[in-house]
Amino acid sequence: ATPTALMVGTGRGAQLGILLRGPEVLESTRRVDTVVLDKTGTLTTGEMRVVGEVDGTALRFAAAVEDGSTHPIARAIAEAGRRRGPLPAVDDARTIDGLGVSGTVEGHSMLVGRPVLLAERGLELSAQLRADLEAAQADGATAVVVGWDGAARAVLAVADTVRETSADAVAALRALGVRPVLLTGDHETAARAVAAQVGIDDVRAGVLPEQKADAVAELQAQGHAVAMVGDGVNDAAALARADLGLAMGTGTDVAIEAGDVTLVREDLRAVPDALRLARRTLGTIR
Ligand code: ADP
Ligand code: MG
Repeated sequence: ATPTALMVGTGRGAQLGILLRGPEVLESTRRVDTVVLDKTGTLTTGEMRVVGEVDGTALRFAAAVEDGSTHPIARAIAEAGRRRGPLPAVDDARTIDGLGVSGTVEGHSMLVGRPVLLAERGLELSAQLRADLEAAQADGATAVVVGWDGAARAVLAVADTVRETSADAVAALRALGVRPVLLTGDHETAARAVAAQVGIDDVRAGVLPEQKADAVAELQAQGHAVAMVGDGVNDAAALARADLGLAMGTGTDVAIEAGDVTLVREDLRAVPDALRLARRTLGTIR
């Protein structure tokens, strides 16, 4: 394509809410045959709520520790806790990327997050808590385990909303001959529930942040030109690794910096739009 065509293509992208880092990005966009989509904050709005019944003390303690984290799950828990009154003070709150948070509340050493995080540190689930956890996941919610002083004590169910436009975006990708893949740190059951709603059958769940880039590399090793769409700190390495990284404009700065493209609209239909634009600009639509 001529420099003028590239400039026009880049400008057209901007009108569609697709910000390219430079005109050269159009070439990698054109080659994409596989699109890997993060779940939380990408296929879904990432606006989460705590649902179902919750033990008040566990919620307030968990909320205090989560208050220091920007993760959508953390914000939901902090907000739900605050509705029950002022949050207790917390010492040395720490984020454990893709797993949860820790900190000290009223002298109790707290751990809040994925079941595997608590299991790894020897905090066992009772039969009742295991049943609560399975019930939450069967509903498509994310189960967050709250533990302190060596024992798991409560399960919080946190639910998210699938964006209305995500299923159309996935259908449009398929129409372009592109294969959609869902990649998430969340549990398999919750991931499958979202995948079914948007029409994706290739689901890779329970993936730790550092493994997200490996999942992209694995698809590349199979000969695919891979685009990754994500919003979180946990997506940054995968966005950088992908042939084309697309960051949600509502996402974290780290994700935006790692990407080649920023999607200004909160609408994944911009992804097939970008592929179509690149194909057209570079003259491969026959
Ligand atoms: P996704 O890949 O869907 O964007 P993340 O990689 O950010 O999800 O997180 C993976 C999983 O780790 C979440 O589904 C949740 O179970 C757990 N998790 C991450 N951060 C937190 C947190 N601050 N509090 C509780 N759980 C968390
Ligand atoms: Mg995310």
